[in-house]
Amino acid sequence: MSSSNQRPILIVGAGFAGAVVARELAERANISSVVIDSRDHVAGNCHSVRAADTGILEHVYGPHIFHTSNRETWDYVNRFGVFHPFVNRVKASTQRGIFSLPINLHTINQFYGRHLNPVEARAFLASVADSSITAPANFEEQALKMIGRDLYEAFFLGYTQKQWGCSPRELPASILSRLPVRFSYDDNYYADTFVGIPEAGYTRVIENLLDHPCISVRVSTPWDPAMQRDFGHVFFSGPIDAFFGYEEGRLGYRTVYWDRLVAEGDYQGNAVINYPGLEVPFTRVHEHKHFAPWETHNRTVVFTEFSKETTAADTPYYPKRLKTDMTVLEKYQQRAAASPGVTFIGRLGSYRYLDMNVVIEEALKVTRQFLELPQPT
Ligand code: UDP
Repeated sequence: MSSSNQRPILIVGAGFAGAVVARELAERANISSVVIDSRDHVAGNCHSVRAADTGILEHVYGPHIFHTSNRETWDYVNRFGVFHPFVNRVKASTQRGIFSLPINLHTINQFYGRHLNPVEARAFLASVADSSITAPANFEEQALKMIGRDLYEAFFLGYTQKQWGCSPRELPASILSRLPVRFSYDDNYYADTFVGIPEAGYTRVIENLLDHPCISVRVSTPWDPAMQRDFGHVFFSGPIDAFFGYEEGRLGYRTVYWDRLVAEGDYQGNAVINYPGLEVPFTRVHEHKHFAPWETHNRTVVFTEFSKETTAADTPYYPKRLKTDMTVLEKYQQRAAASPGVTFIGRLGSYRYLDMNVVIEEALKVTRQFLELPQPT
């Protein structure tokens, strides 16, 4: 594709998806783009701000931990910011006590009051798991097959009901597959080779991605369909149903929100503590300074996380992908396929529960396809 007579490209959304597409168009083909965002800042939901009252770097839309096992992706993000290695050691606070997550040898021994070694724990879990389930059709079946009813009810049932607002039987098994089960004392929440958090925050990483003479950024600029005619192509990272004016119906999303508390000292001694039980209405508590253990702060800022159904006024976070959603999504996907001037990208554009690393990998891939460049092997 020649760059000289190329009309500029419009990129809707200044999160990772949009910023990576803009950067690739600029670096690989010298193509100009305009990146718009309806919010008054870039970085989408990984936006981070150093709070004026505490000096602590806050992940405004909830904590984000970057993890990948793909060296190319890791090297790519490290071009745009210094990432500190970070290990997320989540705990679960229940009425029976505090347990280690994700489920590992420590959790199994704590929960059942045993002294099992890895081989014994594997055999024990197999004895309590439901072996009659061969092809789990939903979240609950996946859990019963993997860990059995006791651990499922203690750690997953209530949390998932609070988080998703429905029965785990209605949710896809793939949601549970995000979490490992380990027969060792490894309590790293993520199984990936590279895990880190940017020293200066994600917003700086996105600003650096967008810092190129071919890229103009306009914040506080909502998408308007009339914009399309001024551009050669649109990359759209907003909700796919919003793009089509919700004409086929609204896709279901959960949104999350937080109670913010500022306190002195150390509030909970850890970055994340989950509350899986239904005796409290929230799902987890984040203490932001523990996401930056390389910094020192006397004060602390704590976010208690709640989840609810997304209304027209809320930020969509988690695509629910219930059966009814998938029927609606199919209609939007057919319309997208018949709209050659637009490419849908990112979590909202594709209505999938994607992590940042996958969003970046897909944005790199889709831009190479657009530029008709070979894909990496
Ligand atoms: N989950 C749970 N209990 C926990 C942690 C997670 O039931 O203590 C379930 C829940 O359904 C959640 C899903 O596993 O939505 C994925 O968890 P993850 O921590 O990956 O969610 P995220 O950090 O993306 O919100």
